[in-house]
Amino acid sequence: MEEKKESLNFIEQIITDDLKSGKHKDITTRFPPEPNGYLHIGHAKSICLNFGLKKTFNGKTNLRFDDTNPSKEETEYVDSIIEDIKWLGFEYDNLFYASDYFDQLYDWAVMLINDGKAYIDEQTPELISEQRTNPTTKGIESPYRYRAIEESLRLFQEMKDGKHADGSMVLRAKVDMNSPNMHMRDPIMYRIMRKHHHRTGDKWCIYPMYDYAHGQSDYIEGITHSICTLEFEVHRPLYDWFLNQIDTTGKRPRQIEFARLNLTYTVMSKRKLLELVNNKYVNGWDDPRMPTISGMRRRGYTAQSIRNFADRIGVAKRENMIDVGLLEYMVREDLNKKANRVLGVLDPLKVVITNYPEDKTEEFDAINNPEDESAGKRKIGFSKVIYIEREDFMEDAPKKFFRLTIGSEVRLRYAYFIKCENVVKDDAGNITELHCTYDPESRGGQSPDGRKVKGTIHWVDSKTCIDAEIRLYDRLFVKEDPDDIGENETYVDYLNQDSLKTITAKLERRLLDVCPGQNFQFERKGYFCVDKDSKPVHPIFNRTVTLKDSWSKISEK
Ligand code: ATP
Ligand code: MG
Repeated sequence: MEEKKESLNFIEQIITDDLKSGKHKDITTRFPPEPNGYLHIGHAKSICLNFGLKKTFNGKTNLRFDDTNPSKEETEYVDSIIEDIKWLGFEYDNLFYASDYFDQLYDWAVMLINDGKAYIDEQTPELISEQRTNPTTKGIESPYRYRAIEESLRLFQEMKDGKHADGSMVLRAKVDMNSPNMHMRDPIMYRIMRKHHHRTGDKWCIYPMYDYAHGQSDYIEGITHSICTLEFEVHRPLYDWFLNQIDTTGKRPRQIEFARLNLTYTVMSKRKLLELVNNKYVNGWDDPRMPTISGMRRRGYTAQSIRNFADRIGVAKRENMIDVGLLEYMVREDLNKKANRVLGVLDPLKVVITNYPEDKTEEFDAINNPEDESAGKRKIGFSKVIYIEREDFMEDAPKKFFRLTIGSEVRLRYAYFIKCENVVKDDAGNITELHCTYDPESRGGQSPDGRKVKGTIHWVDSKTCIDAEIRLYDRLFVKEDPDDIGENETYVDYLNQDSLKTITAKLERRLLDVCPGQNFQFERKGYFCVDKDSKPVHPIFNRTVTLKDSWSKISEK
């Protein structure tokens, strides 16, 4: 779907104004993930937004790992994040780590203590939190708030030197204990934490808090527009307060908030995604049912479709929930143009063509992609015994059933008209095979005498077909919003028990020679992608999405 851009979104408007007024000559944005998990589709939204601004305004975008909490961070996550961003099709101008700035952040913290704007508090984090009371009540000042500057300086140095136990003291900014904004009530800037850091090793045993580190890192990098999600709106006064303490140039980043992406039938918090992985509800971060970028890639979603989706939903100022059907719609739309068509029977029913010569085989030309002539043609084999989809035959068919039934004729895609003569059943009454006749005059699926055949069905040839493992995925959750639950429930209660079904299908021979990541349309059945576990002798396909547009709301618009 070609979307015409009608007007600038509110962030583009702010940037346009800043460039016009001369506040900035050029812009720099950043994408600042914490390396404590794999990226998900919400991050993709933020990536498309930040890198999109770079493109629109000919600016720069940094990738900055916000690695200030070593207790949850790992190099595996760093690597996966870099891979995902590249796969999405974006190039960052610089790769930075907040940990690169630990020395500078420490020096600025010392400066704040010297200015009487920060102090060492020896109370427990629980007590500190209690003393903040609530927004409508005055906060209780710490007994350490006015301790001598020299004492705070000495203790801060000792904290850094590892002379104090984890949790025994913190550095707090002296902001405003009576502010209606709780974040301003003397926020913690540093805590003691003896944890090995993935980059700085054991150099530090004190680590800066997000609110302190983030804005200062933006400042160091010369970020002009620091875009984050709405929950940070209340942090903005603190973001600005910290910048006020160091900025002398007036050229400082501006924090702008937008609504995070929420998607139906999934959870997005990294904590929950990690739980799904650790408790083996899914097979790893890149399980094709996960809302992670790596999961979607493995499932067969294209980078283009994810970018189109991000553009299509735009930037909002208020939280909302996006129907996952819209994402699936974008995936179909892109794959329709790119994926080669093949024939595959997911639930095979044997068909014997009784009047077809026993040893005869032939080949038909099949079009690889009607949307792309350059994709060319391929040959598909045909012989006396073929397989069709079980659901394409009905014994007691209703009037409008245009597929196969006893006495009726159907067109085999690219091949012949066949007519069902009788069915063979086992003792239990299940149909085991069909006996059909074919019309040799209808070769290529053409009607020899103008007689009409309404239905065309797909099939595969028993002599040349291959068996393949197919993983049919469904939504991971049965509830539209698995986070919206009662007191005694957890989102885990709403996991879809049937989200993965593995079957063996019969596919045309061409699918023996495939590479992981390749997308195909199995005609009439959906889009399928070769899984990374696939081997030449044992191909495995993931169902990306079915063909039917299940997102009815969009077609009504
Ligand atoms: P989570 O809450 O899932 O753990 P997070 O916000 O802590 O995610 P970060 O690694 O800190 O994850 O996020 C990096 C960037 O991605 C941030 O700028 C954040 O605002 C943005 N982001 C995270 N989740 C979403 C989302 N659902 N929609 C849009 N942007 C998001
Ligand atoms: Mg975060």
